[in-house]
Amino acid sequence: MKAVNPANNRLIKEYPEHEMAEVKHIINLAQEEYHAWRRVSFVQRAALMKNAAHVLRKNKEKLAFLITQEMGKIIRESRAEVEKCAWVCDYYAENAERFLTAEIIETDAGESYVSFEPLGIVLAVMPWNFPFWQVFRFAAPALMAGNAGLLKHASNVPGCALAIEKIFKEAGFPENIFRTLLIKPNLIPDVIGDRHVQAATLTGSEPAGAAVAALAGREIKKTVLELGGSDPFIVLRDADLDKAVQTAVQARMINAGQSCIAAKRFIVVEDLLPAFKQKMAEKMRALKVGDPQDESTDVGPLARPDLVRDLERQVEKSIEQGARLLLGGKAIEGPGNFYQPTVLTDVKKGMPVYEEETFGPVAAIIPVQDEDEAIAVANDSPFGLGASLWTKNIEKGKTLAREIRAGAVFINGMVKSDPRLPFGGIKKSGYGRELSHYGIKEFVNIKTVWVA
Ligand code: NAP
Repeated sequence: MKAVNPANNRLIKEYPEHEMAEVKHIINLAQEEYHAWRRVSFVQRAALMKNAAHVLRKNKEKLAFLITQEMGKIIRESRAEVEKCAWVCDYYAENAERFLTAEIIETDAGESYVSFEPLGIVLAVMPWNFPFWQVFRFAAPALMAGNAGLLKHASNVPGCALAIEKIFKEAGFPENIFRTLLIKPNLIPDVIGDRHVQAATLTGSEPAGAAVAALAGREIKKTVLELGGSDPFIVLRDADLDKAVQTAVQARMINAGQSCIAAKRFIVVEDLLPAFKQKMAEKMRALKVGDPQDESTDVGPLARPDLVRDLERQVEKSIEQGARLLLGGKAIEGPGNFYQPTVLTDVKKGMPVYEEETFGPVAAIIPVQDEDEAIAVANDSPFGLGASLWTKNIEKGKTLAREIRAGAVFINGMVKSDPRLPFGGIKKSGYGRELSHYGIKEFVNIKTVWVA
């Protein structure tokens, strides 16, 4: 497995992949340790999870450097990602016991209650775009619930995958309760088919999600899928335009646009359109593209060369179909996978930037007549992850939020994940929820106990 620096396409390091025999051995070790781990008290598990938070904070600089080096996000964002992982560890250390306390339910029984018990080994197939955060938001609740975790990380971030395994070891968790498998997708069927593996979660693209869910379905094993998004950013007539534009740029450009919950379709009512376009293009033009390890850089490279090619195709085809280019529109020559911050307007149904997820620094502005059309366009997507809605009339915003088919609606704010709030999608964005008390209950046996 090769880690390649996306800022210059130079090889960082090569890692040997695990053979299937080694994978089986690791699964057996995890299963053995799980039997003891499931009986460990919440207090003890919480102490270890607090240690994990401490290890993350202590090594923040080193880990942030590794993230940036392997997948290219700017160093400021890498540091923030490590901090957020420490937060989710603290959050579940402090709340897991409360979330999983048995629930007493009055029935005809002398006593009846629901007990939340671990399932066993859960396989996590994870993407490179938030190479630490995606893993920790799975691992912190899963381990606190008493499960064991196996990580199959994206092939371009093997260093991050191994660093995460090490963090749990250093925090004092049992050696094999969280293990990294350095494998390609071709070995996943055997992992999911293993009798000790009870469930799987995947964060990534639609084809990968469908493949893992099909395999798990055949084995009758539970899955959670966190897939792509083409989040609408709806600007109504009475929006605070300056705030909306400022947030729009931030929401599109986080992680150089490679975020499932990045705002991708900017749906703007016509009265505000000229000002919105002008301000958006101005702010996007001012962003500094360059070396992601440089503190002053705003936009780093895309993680892999094929992502640049995908974006080029989406933008070129959309222009051919009548979209107008306000800014950018091209890959940047030279070493590294850089793409210009880009703004397209006059975007219409049928164009790739309308229909597909754009995983890079490309904003698609879609003009609409009024709020009814805005909601119709927002819902006209195969995805349903997040949505951002801008209006000064909060009551109207809350009413419209009910009409938006997505897992989250943020009114006058940017869609973001927060350990305290559930996160996930509907439609082709997946199913199930991560984070909050909903997330920790995805991988537990919700057991009814009835006493005469
Ligand atoms: P990806 O190609 O789907 O990869 C994600 C993970 O799935 C990787 O570990 C990958 O392994 C594995 N994988 C790929 N094909 C597979 C298959 N056929 N069977 C089993 N596993 C397979 O996605 P990506 O390009 O890394 O990430 C971008 C996508 O993830 C975007 O669509 C984005 O929106 C989505 N995403 C969603 C969320 C969310 O929470 N909803 C968050 C972040 C990203 P290899 O690397 O070894 O191929």
